[in-house]
Amino acid sequence: MTKVEQIARWCQGEWLAVADKDAALTELCIDSRNIEDPATTLFIALRSPMRDGHGFIADAWQRGVRNFLISHPIDTLPQDSNVILVKDTLAALQQVAAAHRKQFHIPVIGITGSNGKTIVKEWLAALLSEDRSIVRSPRSYNSQIGVPLSVWLMAPEHQLAIFEAGISQPGEMEKLERIIHPDIGIFTNIGEAHSEGFLNTRQKINEKLILFRHVKQLVYCSDQVQLHECIVQYTHALRGNDSSSGIQLFTWSRRQAADLQVTHTHSTNGKTTIQALYDGSEIQVTIPFTDEASVENAIHCWCTLLLLSVPQNDIRERMMGLQPISMRMEIKHGINDSTLINDTYNSDLTSLQLALNYLGQQRQHSYHTVIMSDILQPGKRDLDLYDEVAEYMSRRNVQRFIGIGPALYKNKASFRKYKQLRSIFFRSTEHFLKNFHMLSFDKEAILLKGARAFTFEKISVLLEQKVHQTVMSIDLSALRHNLDVYRSLLRPGVRTMAMVKAFAYGSGSYEIANLLQYAGIDYLAVAYTDEGVALRRAGIKVPIMVMSPDATSFDRMIAWKLEPELYNFRSFDAFTAIAATLQVSQYPVHIKLDTGMHRLGFNAADMDALAERIAAQPGIKVASIFSHLAASDDAAQDDFTRQQAAAFDTMSGKLVQHLPYTPIRHLCNTAGIARHTSLQYDMVRLGLGLYGIDSSASLQGRLRQVSTLRTSIAQVRHVPAGDSIGYGHHTIAPRDMRIATICIGYADGYPRSLGNGKAHVIINGRPAPTVGSICMDMCMTDITDIPGVAEGDEAIVFGQDLAVTQLASWAGTIPYEIMTGISQRVKRVYTNGE
Ligand SMILES: *Cc1c(COP(=O)(O)O)cnc(C)c1O
Repeated sequence: MTKVEQIARWCQGEWLAVADKDAALTELCIDSRNIEDPATTLFIALRSPMRDGHGFIADAWQRGVRNFLISHPIDTLPQDSNVILVKDTLAALQQVAAAHRKQFHIPVIGITGSNGKTIVKEWLAALLSEDRSIVRSPRSYNSQIGVPLSVWLMAPEHQLAIFEAGISQPGEMEKLERIIHPDIGIFTNIGEAHSEGFLNTRQKINEKLILFRHVKQLVYCSDQVQLHECIVQYTHALRGNDSSSGIQLFTWSRRQAADLQVTHTHSTNGKTTIQALYDGSEIQVTIPFTDEASVENAIHCWCTLLLLSVPQNDIRERMMGLQPISMRMEIKHGINDSTLINDTYNSDLTSLQLALNYLGQQRQHSYHTVIMSDILQPGKRDLDLYDEVAEYMSRRNVQRFIGIGPALYKNKASFRKYKQLRSIFFRSTEHFLKNFHMLSFDKEAILLKGARAFTFEKISVLLEQKVHQTVMSIDLSALRHNLDVYRSLLRPGVRTMAMVKAFAYGSGSYEIANLLQYAGIDYLAVAYTDEGVALRRAGIKVPIMVMSPDATSFDRMIAWKLEPELYNFRSFDAFTAIAATLQVSQYPVHIKLDTGMHRLGFNAADMDALAERIAAQPGIKVASIFSHLAASDDAAQDDFTRQQAAAFDTMSGKLVQHLPYTPIRHLCNTAGIARHTSLQYDMVRLGLGLYGIDSSASLQGRLRQVSTLRTSIAQVRHVPAGDSIGYGHHTIAPRDMRIATICIGYADGYPRSLGNGKAHVIINGRPAPTVGSICMDMCMTDITDIPGVAEGDEAIVFGQDLAVTQLASWAGTIPYEIMTGISQRVKRVYTNGE
């Protein structure tokens, strides 16, 4: 508990209103949608180019918050509240966290590096939690905001803290160091990723090293030459300033003498044994992984445990129990129109809160169920723990709670206190499965959260809607990342309309629209009225423009608050007639101008007449005027693009002149945003870029791949040389071949033109070319040179290592066509990493 008065002092805030300076606070909240316990919450109004937290003060107040930290004076101060004014709320949040940190005298481990931060943190927590109570960053909270929120979680019962720090620009680490102030450092590695803000790798390393300014010990791999050189120089430089300070380096290496010198690694049967020399003796550990990244992460953990004097015997035993860490929450279509959120992240209270936030966002369903296992978190008494869990459930308006495990079963009473909450308990997962047929799941959002030992994957199989083995997974956090990349290119004040037409370019509609709405998008656009209605039905509230409305659906559009694009006098007259009949006034419409694309739009010669007609129609209001660029991605056509822009200026200028208000103007699509920054006007229309593809190629390196299309191998067979494969009896095996038949065909949207070796899929990490023609539901691939392929194995059709653009070029088309062509029978699965 910290008094609000203390917080004001820590950030040198000015009191604008005082209700109770002694109010005790436990929670810092930056998003009014995620308030846990309003009475003890401080709402911090952060300001970013995309969103201003000051606009959500009223909302937070509505939800019961009475303590506010703000940086801009607001018109009406919230009543009965403490309101503290500072210059910069983010800086204040960081100061508060740093001051909070100073109160604790426990060892703090700080982790940075390009990859593996989160895994090393989670594994260390798992390896050390047997003998101490640990606080750590939730998920990958490692940013300028994530770090202070993580450090704020430090409490008197903790004996060790583990925090990760990530940066994207020079100057950031200094702030994170002041907050975390680690005693022990781990530098995982340095890669090329996210280098935009840095001149070169050395600059990036040196910036990250600032985290270790005050550490006593630093763990890293000295085989990384640049990293090693920078660290040696850095420690010399530190010593130069102050002869008493000296960082004790703890290195590991596969090539040279080091504190832990790895002499041999050997993988079989899914396990890797790592042998090393330490302190003159030979020691070894075995981990249940074989991939290089896991081996590296495990060695970092090993070094840290040795440094903390954990006995080698204990280390060996615990390492064998390491488990994969899933950072992801998966969203799937569940049975009976329900939505299933599968969170396999280590179960603890903090991760439960994050998962509940996520559940709360599933507004398409009003009924929410949580299925949860015992929490395997040492250090807290069960009764207190489950009292707290039950309180979370009731606060978050969860309607049904299904608890699985002996501890939950024993603590039923904690839940039964809440009359609104239906609760059911099972002693074990097996008991639940046996009784599954007695429970019903229907049109609801279901959060599935189980510690690994409870094998909740068995439950998830039952709750998933089963369709077809071919699955397209959509990484929502990558989509969010891409949105932010494009937003960062916008001049201040320029709005964003996201194009979610054609089922969000094949990615699915509701889930994408929900994410965009959550991210504060200004507008959505769909092609047809029905698409818009589906989004409204699912609870999407942001303005939606419909680009090809047909006159027969105008009344439905009005009923569902959808805004039409009007592109000629016929559509204009038809809509205004309906608007008059339905007696609406000032209904928002969008005027499309033809500036050279010659698809839809009013012509230059129509402007005067159009202006007159608009003036004569009080039923409508022009929300925006726009046009579409025909060749914004092509430098050779930039003269034409400028010509289009000039025509747009003239034509829209004429209309605006006659209007008593100023509509929004917009012209750029994805490639336009990237290539024609001077043409952003008041809004841009972002399409393909959101989904990870930059048709102008200039931004491709900064975008993340959003969709991965996977299928499975139905059959593996041997085909002797001379036999034919597939339809037509004309593809003859030139040699003895092994063929894998995979479950994707042209009916799934895999173009028929990709047959006969024009394309490949990825099996076991290797390319498997198509053989023979693509069939309707299947196709054959050549796996003769890929060892170890079994029936049921996965084949990747496109994704991280095989871009949609590559597939498109093989098929002689554009990525838009491939993406929107993936059939609706292909199941979409959404993942959401932080
Ligand atoms: C589809 C569409 C866009 C988006 O184009 P991208 O190239 O995918 O960014 C923008 N404006 C209009 C009118 C569109 O139809």
